[in-house]
Amino acid sequence: MSAKIISGKEIAAQIRDELKKDVAELKDKHGVVPGLVTILVGQNPASISYVTGKQKTAHELGFHSIQDDQPEDISEDALLDLIEKYNKDPKIHGILVQLPLPKHIDEKKVLNAIDPDKDVDGFHPVNVGRLMIGGDEVKFLPCTPAGIQELIVRSGYETSGAEVVVVGRSNIVGKPIANIMLQKGAGANATVTVVHTRTKDLEAHCKRADILIVAAGVPQLVKPEWIKPGSCVIDVGVNRVGEKISEKTGKKIAILKGDVDFDAAKEIAGAITPVPGGVGPMTITMLMKNTVKSARIAAGEGS
Ligand code: NAD
Repeated sequence: MSAKIISGKEIAAQIRDELKKDVAELKDKHGVVPGLVTILVGQNPASISYVTGKQKTAHELGFHSIQDDQPEDISEDALLDLIEKYNKDPKIHGILVQLPLPKHIDEKKVLNAIDPDKDVDGFHPVNVGRLMIGGDEVKFLPCTPAGIQELIVRSGYETSGAEVVVVGRSNIVGKPIANIMLQKGAGANATVTVVHTRTKDLEAHCKRADILIVAAGVPQLVKPEWIKPGSCVIDVGVNRVGEKISEKTGKKIAILKGDVDFDAAKEIAGAITPVPGGVGPMTITMLMKNTVKSARIAAGEGS
């Protein structure tokens, strides 16, 4: 039987509808409008496209949104001053600095200058620490892993007591999603295994997984015979494997493949995310969710 296809597009749209209601409620109850600033240094085309996507979504949700473009040659001190300005601005609840930054700027220094309570990307060491501690300490989950958790929960898979196997141990996907899944609480409580390039028998671990999360960046690494029948497979990988002409626009576009052999895996798994259209659409939406949470905290609701 063919697996249920978990549509990130549909789930992200559902969450954005919920957020619209939250934004209206925050405005009515507290007169607060979620504020998000995206800072772009230079004119890297990929970065422009990412930032434009974030601003467009923020605008659609009714946020107070600012796109702050800075020249490629901005000094590190000037960028740090700019961040400090937004740290102090009560109308701004989320600050995002689009990466990569030019070579003369210390990325770590810049990201660490963001007020952890406005770090809606969730990568500030304080927020990484809060996630490790868990419970009420957690403020902002990093966006891609938070999106993965939503996909699993909203597609009806039980995480409590489940064997979750995460392929990959990066700071942006593997480690945080492993931490999220082992939290004590709803949508978590899993038994988590993290596998990586030094793991002895990748296949044996994957075969045990009730929920298999793959973030390796290796096209079609996971073979169909590694998948437990009926399991939930979340394919985070986005790999460019060639180019094709778009039927819609007639322009050249990248052919994207995930880390899982989708066509064969969907005949074994119970549910699976496609690439594209699975995890990808969730990331920006979770950034918006974090910004709404930050605004709610600023309005005196929750912590
Ligand atoms: P990364 O390169 O930082 O980390 C990859 C991890 O996978 C490493 O820990 C490595 O040990 C492990 N790995 C690599 N090859 C392996 C192998 N053969 N066997 C076992 N483990 C192996 O990558 P990342 O930033 O975590 O991203 C992973 C993938 O997810 C990439 O394709 C990336 O494009 C994609 N991604 C997608 C989104 C999104 O959809 N929004 C967001 C982030 C990353």
